[in-house]
Amino acid sequence: MSMTAENVDVAEAQRIVSAAVVPLAAVRLPLSDALGLTLGEPVCTDLDDPPFDRALMDGYAVRSADLAAGSATLRVVGSLGAGAVADRTLQAGEALRINTGAPVPAGADAVVMVERSTLSDDGATVRLTDTPSPGQSITPRATHMSAGDEVLSAGTMLGPAQVAAAATAGAAQVVVYRRPRVAVLVTGNELVAIDTRPGPGQIRNSNGYAMAGLVREAGCELVELGIAGDNPDLLTRKIDEGLRADVLCITGGISMGQYDLVPDVLRACGVTFALRKIAVRPGKPTIFGRSAAGNYVFALPGNPVSCLVGFRLFVAPLLRGIQGGSTAPPAVVSARLTEPMRNNGGRQAYIPAWVEVSGDGTLEARPVAWHGSGDPFGMATANGLLVRDAGAEPAEPGAMVDVIPLTLLR
Ligand code: AMP
Ligand code: MG
Repeated sequence: MSMTAENVDVAEAQRIVSAAVVPLAAVRLPLSDALGLTLGEPVCTDLDDPPFDRALMDGYAVRSADLAAGSATLRVVGSLGAGAVADRTLQAGEALRINTGAPVPAGADAVVMVERSTLSDDGATVRLTDTPSPGQSITPRATHMSAGDEVLSAGTMLGPAQVAAAATAGAAQVVVYRRPRVAVLVTGNELVAIDTRPGPGQIRNSNGYAMAGLVREAGCELVELGIAGDNPDLLTRKIDEGLRADVLCITGGISMGQYDLVPDVLRACGVTFALRKIAVRPGKPTIFGRSAAGNYVFALPGNPVSCLVGFRLFVAPLLRGIQGGSTAPPAVVSARLTEPMRNNGGRQAYIPAWVEVSGDGTLEARPVAWHGSGDPFGMATANGLLVRDAGAEPAEPGAMVDVIPLTLLR
């Protein structure tokens, strides 16, 4: 029988989520389908890189001894583009026109760049002015990697640069943690689709869009379950369906109102709660649980900001973790406050903020104008969250505060 932690602080809640993480199975995929996924096995290269002594410049392959005097006129014995191989050894007194990426011929030990050359009118000789040391403008074979070397370790997330490294290593297929399927369920009788004009008492569903974006940003496959209203039968059916995904994320219906049916329906569907209520603002009623089969379930409050913040703090680290990555919570950095802030209440608070690099290179944070957790528009002008500890004193402009950047800063 597992315990439900109630009203724990954010760090403890994040620890509980992290402790529940079990990475999904690793699968073998074509490299071109693996962008954004995390390696379950290292990638090793089957070749030296570069695989041959390679010209680093357009110019002339030479024997450096021929240029000991600082300049010489050499006989041009041919021209070699990338992809071609010289068929003879370079002799004393000879130069071979060579392009970047071509293999340096045997006998040559340096490349003189074309800017230091004057070709004769008939092209038979070239005047070179340079004193190359042996190895100049050549990348020797295996400078970067030797055949058999590990080029990417298990646990590496495959961004564009990592995919390029795997491609160089000949890893046409890679072993990665499979992409999680994440179901999103919206609850609330008041919610209508965004292409309709809400009737009396109705509003448009925005959280479904926020969560879809967050799921995709986390590299997961989205399973859209639509809007369940506050109807127990429909909720039960949709939650059962959602429990077939790896992770089910529900928004709304978890507070104390008589239509907040989600907790009871979850229990009836066999979900046990590891977390119920977190000492966080916004987002206090949050639930984290597991189904009997081990699927993960998050239920976040319906207020648009609560939903976004809760997802970032608790759901996103789990989505990374089950993909074999880190379960660490979002990174917190220090920034200089530009506006005064009131003291904080008894729960750790996350406040939509604009974070930017100031003229002196330090970070500055400004809380954006917003009207509380029901206001989706303030959040849309924020690129970070200002973190205020429980019971924090008022803060003056210039004070250093904690912020979570939500995007790359520019
Ligand atoms: P609840 O958590 O169900 O009590 O909802 C709290 C508030 O968030 C209510 O004002 C809801 O109308 C609103 N809300 C709930 N779900 C959504 C949603 N999907 N999109 C926009 N607002 C929502
Ligand atoms: Mg509701």
